[in-house]
Amino acid sequence: MRIAFIGLGNMGGPMASNLARAGYELALFDLDSNKVDAVRATGAAAGNHAISSATTAAEAASGADIAFTSLPNPKIIEAVALSEQGILAGLPKASVWIDLSTNNLECERRIRAAATDREIAFLDAPVTGGIEGAAAGTLMIMVGGDKHVFARCKPVLEKIGNRIMHLGPHGAGYVAKISQVVLCYLNSVALSEALMLGVMGGVPAATMLGIIQGSTGASYVADRYGPAILDGSYDHGFALGLAHKDLVLTLELARTVGATLPMCEQVEAIYKKAVDQYGFDQNHLMAVKLLEEQNGT
Ligand code: NAD
Repeated sequence: MRIAFIGLGNMGGPMASNLARAGYELALFDLDSNKVDAVRATGAAAGNHAISSATTAAEAASGADIAFTSLPNPKIIEAVALSEQGILAGLPKASVWIDLSTNNLECERRIRAAATDREIAFLDAPVTGGIEGAAAGTLMIMVGGDKHVFARCKPVLEKIGNRIMHLGPHGAGYVAKISQVVLCYLNSVALSEALMLGVMGGVPAATMLGIIQGSTGASYVADRYGPAILDGSYDHGFALGLAHKDLVLTLELARTVGATLPMCEQVEAIYKKAVDQYGFDQNHLMAVKLLEEQNGT
């Protein structure tokens, strides 16, 4: 089994490292060669010396049975798929391309059509579980596409996740991911508003967070992000710009299926403002900082 992995960032790096530790022959590509080197070093430390770095996505994909991508947004995914030096130019017939990114249905249709033309199977397989889940190999993976192709690839997916679900036809994974991830941002803003209200009314921040964690407002977001909000680090391994991209994908999907989502619209506007103010690469919890600055807390 030869695997290509393209996009070795916060998520792709640890996922590829787990495949390296599992002993697979790997060909890696990322625009940032330091990220390739980090995965190669992890593999070498685990005794896997069958890991090569490629200079293009096509070169990585050449001769692969499965190619994985973990890339920032639909535009980049499409470019990395379809360019002359792209994945589909390299993958052989009868191979499988599995996109682990958070992506939209329009891109899915175009890249799947191009893959099908070349007799390459495609699965959408976005993930949730954050950088901790990626490192621990405990991601939830939401898969759309042919169930026989899924069954064939499942043993490899089990090396990067422990909750792997085939949800239905092509695109089902992306729909589930977008519908799930939006709660992270709605919850972050809701948590921040509740904390600010308590603090501005005189309750100490740590006390207020403890009350939220022990009440009907308890959530993963309060447990996981609350301390990073309180200590002012706003630290978590996910870019503000990618969070805003997820919210744009949410509103696109809402238009496609005819849903009206007023809270998502407001939270998208908050994240857009935060990206404009602090920059794409800042942490996604900087949207909370924006609200705090507006309130002077
Ligand atoms: P990231 O920005 O850390 O990593 C993206 C990687 O892609 C970078 O290493 C970058 O150099 C590389 N890249 C960009 N353009 C490229 C190109 N043209 N060719 C090759 N490599 C290229 O992002 P991430 O946080 O790892 O997220 C990746 C995907 O996973 C996104 O779609 C994101 O929405 C999704 N996701 C992220 C998280 C998270 O907590 N970070 C959780 C679930 C899903």
